[in-house]
Amino acid sequence: MPNCTLCPRRCSAPRTPTEGHGFCGLPTTMKIGRIQPHLWEEPPISGTRGTGAVFFSGCTLRCAYCQNGDISHRNAGRSFTPRELSEYLRRLTDAGMESISFITATPYVPQILETLALYRPPVPLVWNTSGYETVETLRLLDGVIDVYLPDLKHRSERMGRLCAGAADYFAVTSEAIREMVRQTGVPQYSENGVMTRGTLIRHLILPGCTSESIALLQWVKDELPAGIPVSLMQQYVPCNGVDIPGLDRRITPREYRRVADAMAALGLPGYLQGPTSATVDFVPSFNAPDSFIGDEHSV
Ligand code: SF4
Repeated sequence: MPNCTLCPRRCSAPRTPTEGHGFCGLPTTMKIGRIQPHLWEEPPISGTRGTGAVFFSGCTLRCAYCQNGDISHRNAGRSFTPRELSEYLRRLTDAGMESISFITATPYVPQILETLALYRPPVPLVWNTSGYETVETLRLLDGVIDVYLPDLKHRSERMGRLCAGAADYFAVTSEAIREMVRQTGVPQYSENGVMTRGTLIRHLILPGCTSESIALLQWVKDELPAGIPVSLMQQYVPCNGVDIPGLDRRITPREYRRVADAMAALGLPGYLQGPTSATVDFVPSFNAPDSFIGDEHSV
C-alpha cells in the first residue's frame, strides 16, 4: 500500500507488510492485541453472551487520555493473516457470541474484507470506532458492516486539537456519522434485544466539558433522524499519563447529572452507563497469553 489515505489523517505514507510510516505506524499485516468474548459493551451489542471483540493494534485518533494506550499508542499486538483471523472469528462464533466487534480497525479495512470473504460470521458485525473516519473508507464497508458504534467526542476544534491533534475531529466525525446512519438506517433489533442493524453513538463526558457534551447531544437531536440511540458514559479516568489541564480527574456527579438531564430533555433514546466501570480494572489484557481465544491452553 504505497500511499495510504484510509483515515482522515491522509498521510499518503508508504506501508509494507512489515513497516508503517504513517501517523498510525502500522504495517499492512494486521496487528491485533486481543480476540476474546467481551461482556461489557452496551446491551444491544453484548447481549447476554457477549460480543466477540477483536481489538486491533494502533489508532488513527490516539486520544491523550486513552484507556487502551498499550494498543492505541504503543501498538502492542501480534500479526495475523486474513486466514488466521478468519479462524479466530470462527472460534468466537463457536463460543456463541451475539455479535462480532471490530475495534479501531480502520487501517486494516482491505485486510478485513479479505478475511470476511474467507469466513463471514452469522451474527451482526459491529464497527467500533473513534468516529474519526472518512466517508470514502466507510463506503467500502457499506453492506458489510451491520452496526456502527462510533464515538462522538469533541465539539470544539480546541478540544479536538488538545486531546488528539485533530482540530477537524467534529467536522470529520459528524460527516462520518451521517454516512453510517445513511447506510444502516433506523436501528433494528433481534427478539432478544441485540442490534442487528443500525448506529449507536457513544459519548464519554470529560471533566469540565459538560457544555461540549450538551452541544453534541443537541447536534444528534437536530441533525440525525429520530431514534438513533446515544450511550452516555461517565466512566472517564485519567489514563495513559494524560497531561492536559483539567483532565486529571473523574467527572463529578453534578457534571453527570447536567448532561444526563439534557439528554432526557432532548428526548434522545439510549443508555446511561454507570460509574462502576470508572476504573482501570476494566481494561482487558492485551497481547498476553490469555488474550486470544482458544490459545489459553497452548501457552
Ligand atoms: S491509516 Fe495510518 S497510514 Fe493510513 S492515512 Fe491513516 S494514519 Fe496514515
